[in-house]
Amino acid sequence: MDIKRNYEYLLSDLKSIKGVGLKTSNLLKRKKINSIFDLLWKLPKSYTDRSLSSKIKDLKVNEVQTITIIPQKYLFPRVRNLPNRVLCRDETGEIDCVFFNSYEGYIRKILPIGKEVTISGKIKYFRNKYQLTNPKYISEDSSIIKQKHNNYSLTEGISEKVYNKIIFQIIKNLPQIDEWHSKDILKNFGNIGWNDSIKKLHKPENIGKFKENFYQRLAFDEIFSTFLVNSEIRKKIKKVKKTKKKFDVKKQGEIISKLDFSLTSDQTKTLNEINKDLCSDNKMFRLLQGDVGSGKTIVALLSAFNTISSDFQVAVMAPTEILARQHFLLAKKIYPKNIKIELLSGKSSYKDKKKILNKLIKKEIDIIFGTHALFQKKVEFKKLGLIIIDEQHKFGVSQRKKLSDKAGKDCDVLLMTATPIPRTLTMTIYGDMDLSIIREKPNNRKPVKTYSKIESKIEDIIKFIKKEIQLGNQIFWVCPLIEESKKIDHSSAIKKSEYLKKIFPNEVYLLHGKTTIEVKEEILNKFLRNEFKILVSTTIIEVGIDFPNANVIIIENANKFGLSQLHQLRGRVGRGNKESSCILMFKSNLSENAKKRINILKDSNDGFKISEEDMKLRGFGDILGFKQSGIKNFKLADPIHNHNLFILAEKEIKRIENEKEDIGRFKPLIKLYDRADIINDIA
Ligand code: ADP
Ligand code: MG
Repeated sequence: MDIKRNYEYLLSDLKSIKGVGLKTSNLLKRKKINSIFDLLWKLPKSYTDRSLSSKIKDLKVNEVQTITIIPQKYLFPRVRNLPNRVLCRDETGEIDCVFFNSYEGYIRKILPIGKEVTISGKIKYFRNKYQLTNPKYISEDSSIIKQKHNNYSLTEGISEKVYNKIIFQIIKNLPQIDEWHSKDILKNFGNIGWNDSIKKLHKPENIGKFKENFYQRLAFDEIFSTFLVNSEIRKKIKKVKKTKKKFDVKKQGEIISKLDFSLTSDQTKTLNEINKDLCSDNKMFRLLQGDVGSGKTIVALLSAFNTISSDFQVAVMAPTEILARQHFLLAKKIYPKNIKIELLSGKSSYKDKKKILNKLIKKEIDIIFGTHALFQKKVEFKKLGLIIIDEQHKFGVSQRKKLSDKAGKDCDVLLMTATPIPRTLTMTIYGDMDLSIIREKPNNRKPVKTYSKIESKIEDIIKFIKKEIQLGNQIFWVCPLIEESKKIDHSSAIKKSEYLKKIFPNEVYLLHGKTTIEVKEEILNKFLRNEFKILVSTTIIEVGIDFPNANVIIIENANKFGLSQLHQLRGRVGRGNKESSCILMFKSNLSENAKKRINILKDSNDGFKISEEDMKLRGFGDILGFKQSGIKNFKLADPIHNHNLFILAEKEIKRIENEKEDIGRFKPLIKLYDRADIINDIA
């Protein structure tokens, strides 16, 4: 019976596959394989060629070979621990098939006396006779055995044979799928269709053929579907009609003129982009991307000010208390006195919090700063017009969409990130938002000089910091946090601070994971006020905080970090106009590869470039912890090797957007490839 299947068949449960019961399906589910579609991407690692058969007299011992034999006689000893045997032969010789722990009935069925049976397995030689032990590949239909059989890295409990059978069945039953791509796109892939591509993907001889049409087409499908979903979200959010914000841009000029610097042209450009969005009747959903220290905060605060001027409230969320407080203090410093500014801090008393919540809902607060606590249900605004989220690259697409929905139609959304990432990734990860990029850093910045030092030369470093301290400068000393052993990290940070305290009495403070919020803030404030010189810490204050007087950062065990992370840490210094340095410490001499990586960091101060190089060296999953971010990793596509496919997909999406093409024909593609929770909203 031939059932006409459509794409939905691919989304059906594993149990709809013949031979897959609850047990196998549970084993697969443990590997996050939940549907037939998921199975398509578990690719063979290698194959065993069982296609050529041999005669018994020509058998080679210890090799996998295929023979066609006729069972002659059963020897079932009926004694525990003795195996069952079947004597078999062909016209050239004899072989024993030996079975441990097996039922006679089963053996009689698979090796019937007098019938021709094809059998494959590793041949042994035992007591002057060829022998095959527990053979798994046995059939009277030789064509089933005489093939190339794929080897997979399998879930425990599922045999190669069963797995091959499952895949064989799925490939055989692939539904006919209408082509979703345009002719022009298909031309890039020699016009190969989806079905044929899948079939080729699973052919043993095609293992590793990443450059072939079929592979490229399937990789493109993945990229394209991601971009298409992003585009749909963007369109959908743009369609939301909001109340335009009305403000006088001259007022922001008054704040700008009082700053002790002038804005860079990129800051002005991005501010204008945001202002334009605020004034339009489409909801803003924008990402402000700029390297560490590129000056995003002031851009954000100015757009917040404009929002307040048009009689709306603003919420600014930062990843840590300290950062929220720093933004809060900056706002207090630069905003006119009539603007009502609050900080919702985790450490405020219940009574104070309640007071703030009350004021928020009565619109007696114009702008509030805080951590994610700002987005709790009980925090209600009277007239929220803008949400700003700082340093939140860990927010995934669906979280952002939810946030935007929750904020309501009149509320614009601005996200900020100091993690410059390669363009292909930006398109993938942030393609649902409009993008404003600050590339150029304030020109009073001198690039941070970067050195590497082996740990045994710590005395050189001490000499160096002594000099810096005499010049009135401050120092960060970072002891890395290694997830697996928080205890060790903790004690090594303590030890280091003890060591430094002996050399620099009264000048060293320590921050670590167990420091309470109160103490932490006290220490950081002291450091800001230049009351001590060396701040030893684990990396808990990784992002965003601004200490203009600190100009040296020492990073111990630097090979524990990725380049982009090191670049971010380094970005904590060099924010003022002093010469600044970053010293990377290593436990042992650097390997060639490590040297290469560190040189990238020494040669460049451009976060975008560093991330691009880092990705080339380490792959994209690693670079910024995107693995944990909930961002789906591609199954075939690779942001490094398929760069051209990303560009092609972006072009095609633009075309579809410009020509307002109906995306109905992509429905199967989206349903198959993408993130169900979003699809329900847009398709
Ligand atoms: P980030 O983009 O990493 O969030 P910040 O907004 O914290 O950077 O800015 C870093 C530092 O640069 C702050 O001390 C800020 O006052 C300063 N700054 C911002 N813009 C300029 C500018 N145009 N010229 C000089 N300094 C600036
Ligand atoms: Mg910042």
